[in-house]
Amino acid sequence: MNSNNTVACPLDCFDACEAIYKDNKCKPSREHTITNGKLCVKFAHLMKEENLTNASHDGVDIPLNSALEILTEKLKESQNSKVLYTKGAGNIGVMQGTPKAFFSKYGATFTQGGICDEIGDAGLTQGRGHNVNPPLQNLIDADIIICWGRNFSITSPHMYEKVKNKTFITIDPIQTDMAKKSDLHLQINPKTDHELALLLTRFAYMDDMDDESSYSQYATGADWFVDLAKSRPLVSYEATTGVKLSKVVKFMELIKDKKVAIMLGLGVQKYYEGAQIIRAIDSFAAYIGVHNKSAGGVWYLADAAYGYEKQFETKAKNYVDITNVDFSSYELVFIQGANPVVSIPNSKNVIEGLKNTFVVYFGTTYNDTCEYANLIIPSCDFLRKQDVRLSYGHENKAISYAVREKMENTLSEYELSNFLLNKFDYEVLKAEEEIFDYYKNTRPILPKIESFEFIEELDIEALYEKIKQNQFYLITSKRKNSLNSQFKVDNNVYLHPLSGYEQNQEVILKTEYGEANFEVKLSEDIKENCILIHAGAKKGNYLTPLKSDEVASSAIFQDVIVSIELP
Ligand code: SF4
Repeated sequence: MNSNNTVACPLDCFDACEAIYKDNKCKPSREHTITNGKLCVKFAHLMKEENLTNASHDGVDIPLNSALEILTEKLKESQNSKVLYTKGAGNIGVMQGTPKAFFSKYGATFTQGGICDEIGDAGLTQGRGHNVNPPLQNLIDADIIICWGRNFSITSPHMYEKVKNKTFITIDPIQTDMAKKSDLHLQINPKTDHELALLLTRFAYMDDMDDESSYSQYATGADWFVDLAKSRPLVSYEATTGVKLSKVVKFMELIKDKKVAIMLGLGVQKYYEGAQIIRAIDSFAAYIGVHNKSAGGVWYLADAAYGYEKQFETKAKNYVDITNVDFSSYELVFIQGANPVVSIPNSKNVIEGLKNTFVVYFGTTYNDTCEYANLIIPSCDFLRKQDVRLSYGHENKAISYAVREKMENTLSEYELSNFLLNKFDYEVLKAEEEIFDYYKNTRPILPKIESFEFIEELDIEALYEKIKQNQFYLITSKRKNSLNSQFKVDNNVYLHPLSGYEQNQEVILKTEYGEANFEVKLSEDIKENCILIHAGAKKGNYLTPLKSDEVASSAIFQDVIVSIELP
């Protein structure tokens, strides 16, 4: 154990808080810039989690050593490329990636793409070469914050706390907590964010808000982008986006001559052409001169590891898209800190696949996927291993020391990796302390945007052209009390009271990909043409597409139309 006593919240969240472990308790750090003396309800849930304490094989508890021997034997008798390695975001410290070093040397197939931010990341990177957020101080120094598809006050409560007295605008189909706290809410139709970006650009053009002196230093293609924005009558945008022009006028009044920050969320990119949608928004931001300023900017779920040198191998020889992987076509599936049964699109396909292969689960807690695991290996929890938590929300990191003794039948990701590397006579990892110190002590310089390409054409299939009367757009979002499939999961479907359905009514939701029963909860917060299912709902992914987006091999959860039937 180390005498240092800070621990990093390991949860998949923008804020990356730090706590102090003292008297067998975690207390919020006052010194850590972001944490600032407060932790959230999810951290409280995390502390109450019942962690795995024993390995098991086919449901029978076995000693850890036996589990590791079974794993070794299974790996030795499998064809290497027929072993699938997939990692989730149950704990997002950098040391959690060390098993990749073994599985890449071994020649396993890795899942590629993702179920989170990857489409938006690809879009931003296409346009500007990287996906890195501006410094936090730029947010603090902004005058006005546009939360575009991001429920900022809930998903980044500590970042929000730092800027809560500013003027906010929210763009979201749902009247979120952030929308209720905003001066203006544009309740947009789903999958029309690129159209709204064009409409706003058109207004900016008419209002002389074109900041050419700024973007001409680093960007190309503005003329084409503006031509694109001018290519349709204004009223046609009103009809498709569902946003009244009077609200757009108010929007422009609020941002004129102001230092603007845009907090981009995940909802806007959960579509086949999500990368194009994100680029259209980023192009609007460039047009009004948001980038490369000393205040304001565009924030997304950034590449937290930007500027760090890799301390261990993470690349595989073979990849398969996570969105439509057939687990049954592998001899062994190694799942680390993930819950694919609930999190990956088309749960039925996932479950069928897992039933027909040898599943190894390596993680801290028992989840839905463990039901299908042949071998369970408990990893030690975040208080019992050292790690560094980088943040995708801001440039601060959180440091985690091992503050409690490790439990007998558990092991860390680093230990498992070196165990396997040794067993297969591969080169072992650098010393744990060396990797930890590197991430702890390295401070990459945040890059500016050196070159930027405005998006010059859009080829996006409109959902509003497919939707029929009595059908709904699907919105999937995070909530305050849970984190994806962790903690207090909400399994209901939310509808507007004018939808024609009743509180607590049982309904069958149907899409072209599947169907499932839900209980209705009515809420004025939901746009009338939408249904909301929270991320982590057990049956949510019975409805979602079994296919990837066009550039990032990633999940397009919301690119679907839902019909409702009664049982
Ligand atoms: S806000 Fe996020 S990082 Fe901070 S304690 Fe809560 S879950 Fe952890």
